[in-house]
Amino acid sequence: MTNSSIPAVGIDLGTTFSVVSKLDEHGRPITLANAEGDRVTPSVVLFDGQDVIVGKEALKAIATEADQVAECSKRDVGHRVFHKIFEGRQYPPEVIEAWILNKLRSDAAGQIGRFSKVVITVPAYFDEVRRKTTQDAGYMAGFEVLDIINEPTAAAVSFGFQQGFLDPKGSSNAPQRILVYDLGGGTFDVTVMDIRGTEFTALATDGDVRLGGYDWDQRLVDLVAESFIREHYVDPREDSGAAGKLWLGCEDAKRTLSVRGKAVVACDCQGYSSRVEITKRQFEEATQDLLDRTRFTAEQTLKAAGLGWDDIERVLLVGGSTRMPMVRDMLQQLSGKAPDASVAADEAVSHGAALRAGLLLAESQGKSSAFSIKNVNSHSLGVVGTDRLTKRRRNGILIPRNTTLPVTAKRTFRTSKAGQKSILVQIVEGESPSADDCTEIGKCTVRKLPPKLPAQSQIDVLFHYEPNGRLKVKVTVPETNRQVKTEIVRENSLSKEHMDGWRRYICQMDATDYR
Ligand code: AMP
Repeated sequence: MTNSSIPAVGIDLGTTFSVVSKLDEHGRPITLANAEGDRVTPSVVLFDGQDVIVGKEALKAIATEADQVAECSKRDVGHRVFHKIFEGRQYPPEVIEAWILNKLRSDAAGQIGRFSKVVITVPAYFDEVRRKTTQDAGYMAGFEVLDIINEPTAAAVSFGFQQGFLDPKGSSNAPQRILVYDLGGGTFDVTVMDIRGTEFTALATDGDVRLGGYDWDQRLVDLVAESFIREHYVDPREDSGAAGKLWLGCEDAKRTLSVRGKAVVACDCQGYSSRVEITKRQFEEATQDLLDRTRFTAEQTLKAAGLGWDDIERVLLVGGSTRMPMVRDMLQQLSGKAPDASVAADEAVSHGAALRAGLLLAESQGKSSAFSIKNVNSHSLGVVGTDRLTKRRRNGILIPRNTTLPVTAKRTFRTSKAGQKSILVQIVEGESPSADDCTEIGKCTVRKLPPKLPAQSQIDVLFHYEPNGRLKVKVTVPETNRQVKTEIVRENSLSKEHMDGWRRYICQMDATDYR
């Protein structure tokens, strides 16, 4: 499937855990263990003086040095800085992600030799800003990011591979409509997909970039903390050392509650200690609203795809948090069928990414595609305008969500005065009619309009979503038949110069040459 000298590598960069896979010599995806011998690497970074430590040791340090540990950085991606300060320094979240990716790269290189080309996955519900930021993190980690693909799509591709759909003989398989329910550590995605032989088409997607196993952990933390307060009048959540340890204990107890009716969490704070027993029932009651949010989103997505549960052949479980029995019970009740746990919950996404990398490498060598992916945009794209009556900033939607990609939309502007030199276009993503409630992608200043344009000249701005959900903007002036150079200026994005600096700094930490 691929040139043997360039490995096809896929990375699932998760909120809590990350996984690296590659295709073996038969084109089958396999997971690569990290330097510690584990198949999954905690997406956690410890700032220890001059050292930056990623993975299991960093996770352990949450119990003792929580102030120096960056966890769940994926949740902050798209913001200017990570929410914690380390040794007086604020880091952009994508730099923390780059450190995680750097560890994954260097551990994998130890086994398969130097490589730089990868496919990285992102939640389907990631907006354009977060997609770009993930690509930037890959760049700063020394990678050449071949593509970013949606996690549920990657899982579906991995499922298709497992079912033999990607085998040329398998393309006769009957079409299937599946609903991918992907509940990871920090994000939640639902995607309805149509699989026809080797064609994977997303019909609708929805989700929440701030909902995942971590929120279930926090509810357990609250249950234990409340019991501790009743006993000792001290809140362990307010003591950073105790809080870190408590979270680790609760995450572990949550896993226990997936197989047992009760779990015990030890909690120590300011010389007091307790062992708090939590029953499965208490846990389920305390997290019912979180589960309901996922149920609501799953139903909405199905509706957006114009389908009902009877049209869905399979509900595919992806993400570590789908191991919670409450998730499986809810989906069984909703869909009337047992959810399918046949893909490896933790590894399917990175396997799909490796298959995608193999496909891209094969295509770059002029070979035919083994499968095709059609994606939809998860957020509507709009241009900011001002309401004539209220003078409020409005979101003029140009490309509604769930439109099949790639897609191009045109918006025509008119110059207001003769000889106007530039126009400013503000681009947002979101469903709200108010631009202030949407995510600002950036400003696009069209400079150097042709000279002496009369007032009311037509300026066409073309917005193009690529298949991976990234945006390109093109501007033409029909009157002069000219294309005007423009680029999106982003508020919360690192400059190329900054990224190059970080790339050199992060990659110098190991001996491999990544130029
Ligand atoms: P992922 O991002 O797919 O690796 O999922 C990670 C999330 O799955 C974390 O929040 C884990 O705590 C959670 N998880 C993993 N295994 C289990 C389990 N057996 N029961 C409940 N949650 C789990």
